[in-house]
Amino acid sequence: MVLPPHEIKMLSKKELTQSDIEHFKEKYGKRFVRALRSVEEHKVLRYHFRPSDTITWIVRGKRREYLIIPEIYCTCRSFYQDVVISRESTMCYHLLAQRIAETRNQYQSPDATDADRRKLYVEWRRTD
Ligand SMILES: [Zn+2]
Repeated sequence: MVLPPHEIKMLSKKELTQSDIEHFKEKYGKRFVRALRSVEEHKVLRYHFRPSDTITWIVRGKRREYLIIPEIYCTCRSFYQDVVISRESTMCYHLLAQRIAETRNQYQSPDATDADRRKLYVEWRRTD
């Protein structure tokens, strides 16, 4: 899932206009509304692990935290069912939330150690 350049440009604006929001709603439906809400509620996290200097994107969902590989993959059930299996869609709302958050610089940036990372990954890798 790659957002076209004109949409990235819209998302880069300081304030989204009503017509921008309508555009995204029309194209991405409820997913956009949920994604934007997640961003506004500070549920997108960009972990920086040291000393390995690795970055991991996480979106906090209703039930748990989902690991995101930007534009590619999310560990949630909807991604597996709607994107991989049925191919009804190219993204879940978490993937869209990550793109919005990164473009708008609206994410939390926790620093953590690689030891923390190993522990966190046990939970994040789950796909149920
Ligand atoms: Zn997801």
